[in-house]
Amino acid sequence: MSLSREQLEAQLHYPLGDTLPASGRSLEVAPGVRWIRMALPFALDHINLWLLRDEIDGQQGWTVVDCCIARDEAKAQWEAIFANELQGLPVLRVIVTHMHPDHIGLADWLCQRWNCRLWVSATDYAMARLGSQSTTGFGGEAAADFFAANGLSNPESLAKIRGRASYYPSLVPSVPNEYHRLYDGLQVPIGGHRWRCISGYGHAPEHMALHCEELGVLISGDMVLPRISTNVSVYDQEPEADSLTLFLDSLEKYLPLPADTLVLPSHGKPFTGLHERIQQLKDHHRDRLDEVMQACSEKPCSGADVLPVLFPRALDLHQTTFAMGEAVAHLHWLWMAGELRRARDAQGVWRFSAR
Ligand SMILES: [Zn+2]
Repeated sequence: MSLSREQLEAQLHYPLGDTLPASGRSLEVAPGVRWIRMALPFALDHINLWLLRDEIDGQQGWTVVDCCIARDEAKAQWEAIFANELQGLPVLRVIVTHMHPDHIGLADWLCQRWNCRLWVSATDYAMARLGSQSTTGFGGEAAADFFAANGLSNPESLAKIRGRASYYPSLVPSVPNEYHRLYDGLQVPIGGHRWRCISGYGHAPEHMALHCEELGVLISGDMVLPRISTNVSVYDQEPEADSLTLFLDSLEKYLPLPADTLVLPSHGKPFTGLHERIQQLKDHHRDRLDEVMQACSEKPCSGADVLPVLFPRALDLHQTTFAMGEAVAHLHWLWMAGELRRARDAQGVWRFSAR
């Protein structure tokens, strides 16, 4: 039987208890590593950002990890951080774990504000630049067609999705013209310590987590979160993607890290129990795959058909688009594994049935 969220959380340890950094302030979580928490106007109502004490080319200062979305409230929170928390020193570098708006939104603003460089994976840099160009923005027509091909049929929902072509650039209006590339295995010296980049797939195109062996700290980004499961979706740009296999395979790369590693996630609280959490995520997806397989054994199912199987609660449109991506990701795992086959019905909808 599956454990409740409370039982799962009890397997993790939160060294800071319920202490959170105050707005406009930071909290030290390891030597030279400080936690910032900023508000987000979504169901996911906050993001964690990190300040790392650094020295580059002989200059003392800070490296920032992740940025928050581009909006005035976030800029104001950054200004408070600059005033309160930098000890009069500059920001020397902006590291971004991946191209999602809450992570890269203000990167261009920060880099211009401090005349410093963005460090990010090549894939996520390219995707963020592409997405921020409003003429080629994500979503819109292509997203609506993709959702329709996966069984979303409500005309109002599809019309709203068609109208959302400028969603990404509204949160990420620009991306710097230059960047410094992060890639798997790269060792980044930060403040006298080495931080190793660990690439992860299935959530973002080429997500970078950062592990510091000496400090025993993993900046996990969105790849390992303590309370919610990472969004693993198939998107219109890559309609046959097997995102869930990519994600689950990527989780294996964190298993060699020490059991007492302090994990700094982008949402939720710093925790230890990395290996327990990875096992929980594997179990979670295995259970969801079993449910989807069961549904498809009873009748051929589209992505929309398995939504209520995966998400029993009512979903608003924004949640529905995420949930559709997740539903298709689970169907594709079973399809690629050879357990399901797919065929298009008379309406052009992909339906998956047991082999
Ligand atoms: Zn993300």
